[in-house]
Amino acid sequence: MDVIPAFECFLCEELRPEGVRIGRVWCCAACEDRIVRSQAGTADYEELVRAMRRFWQVYGQQCVP
Ligand SMILES: [Zn+2]
Repeated sequence: MDVIPAFECFLCEELRPEGVRIGRVWCCAACEDRIVRSQAGTADYEELVRAMRRFWQVYGQQCVP
C-alpha cells in the first residue's frame, strides 16, 4: 500500500504527485514545463503571469515572515 503524496498545484489547482515546491507553493511538473516553455508575449505566458499574480495577491501576505 504505497500512498503517493500529492499536492494542489497553485496554477492548475489539480492534485499532482510530481512537481516542484517554490517557497510555500506547489507547482506541478506540467505547469513547471509550461512556465519554462512559455515565451513573453504569447497568450499562454500572459495567462501564467495572471495566474501567478492572482496567487500572490491571495497568499502574498502570508509569505511575509
Ligand atoms: Zn499545475
